[in-house]
Amino acid sequence: MSLIVQKFGGTSVANTERIFNVADIVTKTYEKGNDVVVVVSAQGDTTDEFIEKANEINPNASKREMDMLLSAGEQISASLLAMAIEKLGFPVVSLLGWQAGFSTSSTYGSARIKRVTPDRIRKEIDKKNIVIVTGFQGVNKYDDMTTLGRGGSDTSAVAIAAVMHADLCQIFTDVEGVFTADPRKVPKARKLDVISYDEMLELATLGAQVLNNRSVEMAKKYNIELEVLSSLTRVPGTIVKEESKMEKMLISGIAKDNDVARISIIGVPDKPGLAFRIFSKLAAKKVNVDVILQSVGRDSTKDISFTVPQSMMQDAIHVCNSFVEVNGAMHVVYDENVSKVSIVGAGMETHPGVAATMFESLFDADINIQMISTSEIKISVLIARDDADKAVTAIHNKFFGED
Ligand code: ASP
Ligand code: MG
Repeated sequence: MSLIVQKFGGTSVANTERIFNVADIVTKTYEKGNDVVVVVSAQGDTTDEFIEKANEINPNASKREMDMLLSAGEQISASLLAMAIEKLGFPVVSLLGWQAGFSTSSTYGSARIKRVTPDRIRKEIDKKNIVIVTGFQGVNKYDDMTTLGRGGSDTSAVAIAAVMHADLCQIFTDVEGVFTADPRKVPKARKLDVISYDEMLELATLGAQVLNNRSVEMAKKYNIELEVLSSLTRVPGTIVKEESKMEKMLISGIAKDNDVARISIIGVPDKPGLAFRIFSKLAAKKVNVDVILQSVGRDSTKDISFTVPQSMMQDAIHVCNSFVEVNGAMHVVYDENVSKVSIVGAGMETHPGVAATMFESLFDADINIQMISTSEIKISVLIARDDADKAVTAIHNKFFGED
């Protein structure tokens, strides 16, 4: 007999029909003799709607009251799913985060799970109950409800799987798994059978929105194998696991990130310490800097360019402008119409020529590269926003073939 954790996202429980669909998946798993713990998100866009409603009443509502509100979304879906399972004639109980033993840090809105004490879950399983737990929430040391940050239900599921040593943790969503590129944009994108934690983390960070980043970090830390699959089509999904157990894919996926802006400081005096000065000032303003490029010095000046999330561009420009004044650089230029396109693959560590192949596909598509950055398993290029979709398709064709 196995213990299986099944997590269902908002679209999977969006309405009555979908809730019965989930009840069917869960009870079929239970009928096979498994112990089943289910984690649910709020129905559909409930969380967004709650936030809107709160804004109508008080745009400056305290984070404590926001968590009191937002945690209600998961309570609704958990109880409704339990009712559906009751109706199908199976023993079931729904539990809130605190009942399921989720203790979190006290930061409302983005609490961290400190500990999961699953005594109650175990008791209910011993009574042969299917156990449904509200995702995305816990309780802090003041006995107040907390939420884990948007998309946090994935992390709730992985945390339960970790403390209970589950045999399998399935994350049901509205896509069939992890794809080589966004299937809505690249029709030839293929579903991956497996992907490593590190590759998944890179893809998740780069905007492939299948799994919450923190959940993948936690799965890696506790070595929990995840399966990402669709609740709607019921075909095998993508397994996320430790790389040593799998054959390394040269390239696992291509991701596009539009949330970038490029900033350049032109004519920085070519002497030591200035990069340090700029980037420590940016860090002090909590500006996240990503790709950095410094030109070779010429006529005793150089240019320093970097990218930041769009929301931080104004802050960054501000820092750069005062840097220009104080240090005698020439001026600051910026561009918001850029995208970062990245390829991720554990195999590139050992295979030369991956970068060349990527750049060739961009050259063939007549796309200019503004900046390049690499890590062991990732190569990113910064290009004009208008070229981004074309770039993803061109790179995809190059690595995965035209058909
Ligand atoms: N309902 C929460 C959200 O929309 C948590 C989740 O979906 O995982 O962010
Ligand atoms: Mg949601």
